[in-house]
Formats: sequence, C-alpha cells, structure tokens
Amino acid sequence: MQLNDPTLLKQQAYINGQWISGDQQFAVTNPATGEVIAHVPDLGQAETQQAIEAAEQAWGAWRKRTAKDRANTLRRWYELVMANQEDLAVLMTAEQGKPLKESRGEIAYGASFIEWFAEEAKRIYGDIIPAHGTDKRIQVIREPIGIAAAITPWNFPNAMITRKCAPAMAAGCPVIVKPAEDTPLSALALAELADRAGIPAGIFNIITSKQPVAVGGELTSNGKVRKLSFTGSTQTGKLLMRQCADNVKKVSLELGGNAPFIVFDDADLDAAIEGAMASKYRNAGQTCVCANRLLVQAGIYDKFVEKLAEAVQKLTVGHGLEGAFEQGPLINQAAVNKISSHIEDALAKGGRLICGGQPHALGGTFFEPTIIADVTPEMLCAREETFGPLAPVFKFETEEQAVAMANDTEFGLAAYFYTRDYARIYRVSEGLEYGMVAVNEGILSTEVAPFGGVKESGIGREGSRYGIEEYLEMKYICIGGI
Ligand code: ADP
Repeated sequence: MQLNDPTLLKQQAYINGQWISGDQQFAVTNPATGEVIAHVPDLGQAETQQAIEAAEQAWGAWRKRTAKDRANTLRRWYELVMANQEDLAVLMTAEQGKPLKESRGEIAYGASFIEWFAEEAKRIYGDIIPAHGTDKRIQVIREPIGIAAAITPWNFPNAMITRKCAPAMAAGCPVIVKPAEDTPLSALALAELADRAGIPAGIFNIITSKQPVAVGGELTSNGKVRKLSFTGSTQTGKLLMRQCADNVKKVSLELGGNAPFIVFDDADLDAAIEGAMASKYRNAGQTCVCANRLLVQAGIYDKFVEKLAEAVQKLTVGHGLEGAFEQGPLINQAAVNKISSHIEDALAKGGRLICGGQPHALGGTFFEPTIIADVTPEMLCAREETFGPLAPVFKFETEEQAVAMANDTEFGLAAYFYTRDYARIYRVSEGLEYGMVAVNEGILSTEVAPFGGVKESGIGREGSRYGIEEYLEMKYICIGGI
C-alpha cells in the first residue's frame, strides 16, 4: 500500500485528542491477499470509560460555541478529507477490498455528510408557539442531546462514521466511535484529519477494539452517553436496543434489508439491467440496500435473465489495488460461507443456475458473480440478506402480486422498481412498506435525502435535514407573569 501521506496510516486509537497504544493489539488484514497491513489497539471497557469522561469534559465548551464556529471547523475537516481522497481510498481498499473506484466514491460520499451537516449546524431552529394564556409566552429550543456513541460496520468504513458523527458534532455533541474490527484504519485516518482540522480534544474519539461486547456494554450502560447510533446486523441492533432500554437512551438503528428490485413488463429493459447491476453488485453485494430479490414480470422474464447474464459475465473481479476491477473479494470466510449456503439451498430447491455459483479461481474470499433464476419464496435467499454477489430472480404475473411479494419480509429498508407507467409509479411507491423507494434508479444514497428503514430494518433517519434531529432534544420553555 502506497500513500502520498504515510502519516494517515495510524496504528493507535484516538481518545481525548491523544493517540493511545493500549496493552494489546490486533491485526488488520487485506481481504484480497490475507496479508497483515497494520496492528491497532484492542481497547476495552476501561478505555471506553475514559473516552466517555473526556467527552463529558469537552462537551460544555463545544456546545457553547456558535453554530458558525462549529460549522467552520467541520468544513475544514471536509476539505481535508477531500484533499486526501486518494490516500483514504487506498487505505479503504487495502482493509476492505472494494474496488478503488468505489473507495474514491465512498470518500466523496462520506465527506458530503460533513459538508452538509456543517451547513445544517446553522439551521437548528426553534419555535415560538402562541401561548395558552395572555400572560405567558411559549418558546421551543433544540439542544444537543449529549454524548453520542456510534457503532459502525465494515462495509462502508468511512461514510457510516461521517453520516453519524457529522450531524452529532454539528448539533454540539461529542462522539465516541467504535469502528468495525475489520476496518479500523479508515476511522483512524478520519481522526487524524479531524485533529488537523482543529476539532477539539474529546469531541471525536475512536475506540479500536476486538471486544465489541465490552465496549458496547459500556457505551450502552453508561448513563452519560445519551444516544447510540448503530449500523450493522439486525441481531446486534436488537441486542443494543435492549441494552439501551435500561437507561432510556435514544437509539438510531440502521439494520439489515431484503431489498426487492421489481421489473415490470413495460420497463426500459436496458435501464433496468444497468440499475440491477449497480444495485446488486456494488461492493460485491455487501451493502444493506443491495437488491436482494429481483422480481421480474412474466412478459420480459426470459429476456431480462438473458441480458442480466450478459452484463454479469462482463464483470471483472480482482484485487482493487492492482487494477481497475469491478468486484473485489468478500470481507471474510463467513461471508463466503453465507453466499455458498444460499446458492446450495436455492439449487437444491429447484433454482436454475445461470452463471457463477462458485468461489472464484482467484482464491481467498473472491466469489464469482452469480445469477440464479426461477427462485421461489421458500428458498433461503428469499428470506435472508445474502450480502454477496448473488442475484436471485423470481417471476411474477401481476402488480398486486409483485407488491405482496416485495412486502413479504420483516425488513423494510430500500425497494426499487422499473416501469414507464406514471400511475403505477404512484401506486407501487405508496404500496411498498419501505423507508426508501427508487423508481427507475439503481442507486439512491445521497447526503441530501433521508436514509433509513421501517419494520425491522431500523429506527431513525440519516443524512438530509432530518438527520440532525437524531442528535437534538426539544426543550419547551413556558414564560409566565408577563
Ligand atoms: P456484521 O458482522 O454483519 O458486520 P455486526 O452487527 O456484528 O454485523 O457488526 C456491526 C458492528 O457492531 C461492528 O462494529 C461490530 O464490532 C459491532 N458489534 C457486534 N456485536 C456487538 C455487541 N454485542 N455489542 C456492541 N457492538 C457489537
């Protein structure tokens, strides 16, 4: 790994503006090669407590600054992230495996939340409410909630941190981040740049750890932490929500999805193929909004499968730092086992293998981009998120059937559909029980729109003008005797 600025490769955690080595370390590996690329501290409960104390100390001064002052500091951070986009992208590809082009894209996407919330810091408006008595006045102000904790996943090692921390810090809250153990380097590089941007000690802290239970236990049980924002598996999210109940901590959860991607007979087929490729195979299928079920209407079903196969067979697979490949390795062996079990199950129950289906000849955790047709709801891949490069294709007959199939899941994050019928666009958009719906589009993430799910896909929204609400409390002030 070659960096223009090698000081962005940090191998210490960041607490209270200090770089901490810790007693134990753990290795960070490159999933494309299995090579160890760094060691970072394996911190536990005691260091988490220290970070909370530091955040508590730092909070008062940060929240008292003017919004413009906080905004300017965040803006400097944004500019430093963008100025170091290439190095941050290389670090990300090295620890996460995604193609370099996708890493560059994620750095810009991650930075866009810092830019956006720097601007939003200045727009935390209150309200004056006509009072219930002539001698009274009612005022509503919005205040920072307090110390926020962010527990983040490995699939977007940069953007999942900025999407939580930028609004928290803009609102006036300190944050403590526990990045995923697979991808701590992207988080630490962000801390180095936050430090350079002048973000004060204690406001942005990174606890690297391979002991999520200990760190998560302290973050959730410590009453000084008033907010937890989590992105990850539904199972862990439910556990953390239960833990937060004990001190009635506010939670935001961005959990699993089971995204339907519906293609109606009247769709622009080429656009639908392009959208399906972007939605399904981006990050090797390892995003929570990746199409998990392709539902295709009977009239264009065969043609769709044929064209999708042509596109998938052109996908290039390889090591992201060695060439302009379109698909990298999966994050670890567990991910390979999961996709393999979904494929095996689908084929045993009558699915038709169109292409792929095997670990890739490159070895390691590389996996062939795969399509299985004639998938039915009894198969595992219809119910669970595969989180890998498998496109399972289902056939449906009517619009009602497609919407019912799409909604037949406990999840409700993102849904996609392709049609040229404007009335259907409204009917289906409104009929889908999802937090986000993309119509004739394969990618919907942007800092300007509210990202989040319904049902067991989560609570709360990130990005957009709504995203800062998660870090604010409303205070009603009644002034009498006037
Ligand atoms: P996945 O393994 O699919 O990424 P997880 O939900 O396990 O999903 O991981 C997301 C984040 O949650 C990671 O940072 C991980 O370390 C953290 N995590 C996992 N288990 C716990 C837990 N019990 N308490 C706190 N954090 C956890």
